[in-house]
Amino acid sequence: MRMILVGPPGAGKGTQAASLVDSYRITHISSGDMLRAAVKEGTKLGNEADGYMKGGKLVPDEVVIGMILERIKKPDCEQGFMLDGFPRTRPQAEALDKAMTEVGVKLDAVVLIEVPDAMLEERAVGRRSDPETGKIYHLKYNPPPKDIEGRLVHRKDDTAEAVKTRVTKYHSETAPIVPFYEEKGILKRVDGNAKPDEVTQRIAAVLNS
Ligand code: ADP
Ligand code: ADP
Repeated sequence: MRMILVGPPGAGKGTQAASLVDSYRITHISSGDMLRAAVKEGTKLGNEADGYMKGGKLVPDEVVIGMILERIKKPDCEQGFMLDGFPRTRPQAEALDKAMTEVGVKLDAVVLIEVPDAMLEERAVGRRSDPETGKIYHLKYNPPPKDIEGRLVHRKDDTAEAVKTRVTKYHSETAPIVPFYEEKGILKRVDGNAKPDEVTQRIAAVLNS
């Protein structure tokens, strides 16, 4: 299965991807995680992306498109992949479509996780991640175990201000990919305003239908 998770910042894409990839035996590809790793390593790509990411702006299309198209060619993507955070603009969606058509593979589904804007800031600001396991926690909704609290990471762009910019960008830049996939008949909408396990079940239900 080849699929995409779409949704505003804090919608639960990373959380859901982690629950779903095991059962579908596909590779999870998070553009945000890849970019953060590049920033940490100080690669050319990372240095280019850093300034955009801090402020909640999108990294330029040509940078992200190159990175993801290279990634999905790797052997671990042969059985399928779940893209999380890419595509985020219409040109990114078109570039992915073209690249997949060229190698004769198709997208099976695009799952749109819908969460009201009013909930996104609290979700993102309370987010913490464990650099050792990659697990995503939330101070209120999914509290981390006490003994690992000290090593948790609070993302630089999970401030109220940067989240506002990201939500605005989501509506202006990312929402236009929804009709692109709707026209192809592969868009599945899921209400993400429920407990994580319930949302996982809703996604599994639309994927199996
Ligand atoms: P995204 O990848 O879409 O930005 P995440 O999966 O990282 O979102 O989730 C953002 C924050 O919200 C995290 O702290 C996560 O623990 C929390 N979260 C995810 N899903 C839910 C949910 N269904 N209800 C409440 N909090 C959630
Ligand atoms: P979120 O949890 O808000 O959905 P991500 O981890 O997916 O965030 O992305 C964090 C940041 O990385 C974005 O605000 C943006 O700067 C950059 N980024 C990630 N994916 C893309 C993409 N497909 N196009 C452009 N920028 C991206």
